[in-house]
Amino acid sequence: MLKLHNSLTNKKEVFKPVEEGLVKMYTCGPTVYYYQHIGNMRAYIFMDSLRRTIKYNGYKINGVMNITDVGHLTSDEDSGEDKMEKAAKRENKSPYEIAKFYSDIYFDDLKQLNIDLPEHITPATQYIEQMINFVKGLEEKGYTYRIEDGIYFDVKSFAGYGQLSQKDLDKPGNARIEENANKHHPFDFALWKFVPDNHIMKWDSPWGVGCPGWHIECSAMSRDILGDRFDIHTGGIDHKTVHHEDEIAQNDALAGHRVVNTWMHNEFLLVDGGKMSKSLGNVYTIANLKERGFNPLDFKYFCLNTHYSKKINFTFEGLKASAMGYKKLKANLLEHKNGAEKVEEEKLNEYKQKFLDAINDDLNFPLAIGILWTMLKNEPKSKQVYETVLLFDKALGLKLDEVEEEAPSTTEAVPQNIKDLAEQRLLARQSKNWAESDRLRDKIKELGYAIKDSKDGYELEKL
Ligand code: AMP
Ligand code: ZN
Repeated sequence: MLKLHNSLTNKKEVFKPVEEGLVKMYTCGPTVYYYQHIGNMRAYIFMDSLRRTIKYNGYKINGVMNITDVGHLTSDEDSGEDKMEKAAKRENKSPYEIAKFYSDIYFDDLKQLNIDLPEHITPATQYIEQMINFVKGLEEKGYTYRIEDGIYFDVKSFAGYGQLSQKDLDKPGNARIEENANKHHPFDFALWKFVPDNHIMKWDSPWGVGCPGWHIECSAMSRDILGDRFDIHTGGIDHKTVHHEDEIAQNDALAGHRVVNTWMHNEFLLVDGGKMSKSLGNVYTIANLKERGFNPLDFKYFCLNTHYSKKINFTFEGLKASAMGYKKLKANLLEHKNGAEKVEEEKLNEYKQKFLDAINDDLNFPLAIGILWTMLKNEPKSKQVYETVLLFDKALGLKLDEVEEEAPSTTEAVPQNIKDLAEQRLLARQSKNWAESDRLRDKIKELGYAIKDSKDGYELEKL
């Protein structure tokens, strides 16, 4: 019996698909105007665990994930610069080239993380017509209004607005209206935005030339492929309050009933206890982890050891410990693979049942991995244990069938953030800012490195 936590009801519920034997699921995918970082990867590792658990239970699955390759505005509030066009200017490429460049890297990362891909991967630019039709449908039903910069969804006309994020329409709090004072309510959101002539990504529509609002793509694609009643919608927790609340409003207003039964959200991955940010130099990608000698699956193992609904604090120390754990797991497994002893079937069945119960309890992967370890350690070296682990790996997706391969080295080069701090310190010294230079030396020391000044600049040494 599979139980999943539904963010909409805030309860763990017994999962029952709309159509017997088939699970229809939608996942909010990446915006491809820049690299996806390891926090984003956590969201797809969560999707992977969910898809694998569904299949482990014998269901078929029809999954959809969007690729946001349309220029959207830089905030959930329909304001700011267009992300794709901004990136295009920055890199002197067309928005289409930008999208291609970053999606190729994204899919390469997913492959290295052994992510089970959704059956349908849908770039937003290929669904403009469906989005326009969706907005037309809402317009016909009276849920929209027009102001000078676009067509908006009128949240007051939809009775269920705010259920997912427990928002109260009468208490908009600090929701931003000042961006567009003509909106009827601060929570109203754009369905179609008019764009200036010099905008590159723009389409004709019944309302004028423009581009779709940022929430409509997921609604239009899921409706097109999965229909107006489907089982699961996933995404990171940051999407809960605005993006998903708005998707629900559009979906349910057009269909006239609840479209998605279960909403699931993964918690954030933090770095050094906080948000990743470029100014702190701690926005890491899978490629950055590899540069430091890690295997992308070390990172997957790291993520799977924390429940998806809990925050994870990423540190290189933590990743190193996970890499060691993953390496030991494979070494242990290899001994079983070559083992000649016997284990009773009944005993193996007990482990199999416990493992299934763990993943079926709202994807309790940390517990499931614990059960796997208990079996590896407590049972005599036997090929049966090895085969049972390969079965478990259908849920874990850790490529445990490749145990014979040389385990990856985890020797670390000097981490990039330390190098960056050292460079900043060099600049401080060059401008004779001794206080700043001392501060940075202390910071580097705190992070486990000694910096020594030399004729050519500096040398870094691990403490
Ligand atoms: P985006 O490209 O910004 O839409 O993000 C892609 C996915 O990653 C979304 O499901 C986000 O909710 C999720 N996400 C973004 N940052 C993090 C993070 N630090 N930890 C976990 N998930 C994240
Ligand atoms: Zn979405």
